[in-house]
Amino acid sequence: MADVINVSVNLEAFSQAISAIQALRSSVSRVFDCLKDGMRNKETLEGREKAFIAHFQDNLHSVNRDLNELERLSNLLQYHAGLASGLLNQQSLKRSANQMGVSAKRRPKAQPTTLVLPPQYVDDVISRIDRMFPEMSIHLSRPNGTSAMLLVTLGKVLKVIVVMRSLFIDRTIVKGYNENVYTEDGKLDIWSKSNYQVFQKVTDHATTALLHYQLPQMPDVVVRSFMTWLRSYIKLFQAPCQRCGKFLQDGLPPTWRDFRTLEAFHDTCRQ
Ligand SMILES: [Zn+2]
Repeated sequence: MADVINVSVNLEAFSQAISAIQALRSSVSRVFDCLKDGMRNKETLEGREKAFIAHFQDNLHSVNRDLNELERLSNLLQYHAGLASGLLNQQSLKRSANQMGVSAKRRPKAQPTTLVLPPQYVDDVISRIDRMFPEMSIHLSRPNGTSAMLLVTLGKVLKVIVVMRSLFIDRTIVKGYNENVYTEDGKLDIWSKSNYQVFQKVTDHATTALLHYQLPQMPDVVVRSFMTWLRSYIKLFQAPCQRCGKFLQDGLPPTWRDFRTLEAFHDTCRQ
């Protein structure tokens, strides 16, 4: 209830301040009109001077009155602005405290909401990465407006759908090279998972990789690191595990790639 009253008071102060500015503008223009008109419409010179001075003084008084009123209201607005800024600061502190609390437990990926990059910049970064790796092709589209989606094809091994938000990777789905990656209406299918356990595993690891490669101030470096890591799956079915030395374990090849060395490990051999 108190909040509602405060809000209405705030709004009234703002609308009064706007009226005060309008009043000040018209009283100032009256001063200039008075100066422009000069000493007219009186028979004697003395009469004209007197009338002019009286009129001019009246106008200056009005300006003074309107200016004082505006000053009073602007102090009031400063007070409201101070309250608002205090509230906003509290909110942002709360939010970062929440994030810290969660990050201790769950290590979520950072959500930098402030850095919005022009689509052209995102296009350039992606096309440079595309040129870096001949065995990897990246097709960028923007089916839903500004957010880019990538379809990454890695040799004849796998395909990856990458959902971007500006230059930050939101999610990835890894599928087999021969699997369908489109919905019935021809859009990239960002929801259904692979039919094969091996690519489901790689999808899980790619999601973990997104949590690992975090550098909020340098999103282009993050995307490049992620793509470099992803590229190491070109030998998904050809590289033996670096721990047990085998190709298959429980019917699966080594699906894990070390984030630093890019070496192949079975999921259970990586600890
Ligand atoms: Zn192994």
